[in-house]
Amino acid sequence: MNNSETDWITVYIGLGSNLANPSEQIKSARTAITHTLGVRELAFSSLYHSPPMGPQDQPDYVNAVICVATELPPMDLLRCLQGIENDQGRVRKDQRWGARTLDLDVLIYGDRIIDLPDLIVPHTGLAERAFVLYPLYEIAPQLLVPGKGHIADLTAKCPMNGLRRLD
Ligand code: AMP
Repeated sequence: MNNSETDWITVYIGLGSNLANPSEQIKSARTAITHTLGVRELAFSSLYHSPPMGPQDQPDYVNAVICVATELPPMDLLRCLQGIENDQGRVRKDQRWGARTLDLDVLIYGDRIIDLPDLIVPHTGLAERAFVLYPLYEIAPQLLVPGKGHIADLTAKCPMNGLRRLD
């Protein structure tokens, strides 16, 4: 490994969609993420189907988690992900937890704990959300979530809440 290789950080990103053919939205987002300069895919989970969190008058979600290596600093990565959300027709509304074509969240960025106005890592709610924990556990069963504990313990404590794995 040369010196520049050591600057690549392992990052987990959560993907979610419940509009406009959600499975296709997730697959397109995967392609867009892996084509981003300074980002390399390491693993991609199965797709999962989950009931909506918050307002129930919206379609069910498709979720997944991707693991990448990146040389982008955290805020640059977040801006790239927001660009991909916008490219895939995301309309930002005031309603929290409302329907969206694509939601991309930085779940974990190496062993960093980040508390910035626009970026909180590990992602808020990670430890309580089945649609994040189960796909994360699938691709990284040994993971230690910074400040929160082992993924196996977090997942064991979290009911599936209607989550189901798609083929
Ligand atoms: P959402 O509606 O879930 O897409 O939330 C978007 C907002 O969450 C943006 O304003 C981000 O700056 C902020 N945010 C805070 N922490 C994170 C994170 N870890 N990943 C993605 N967005 C984040």
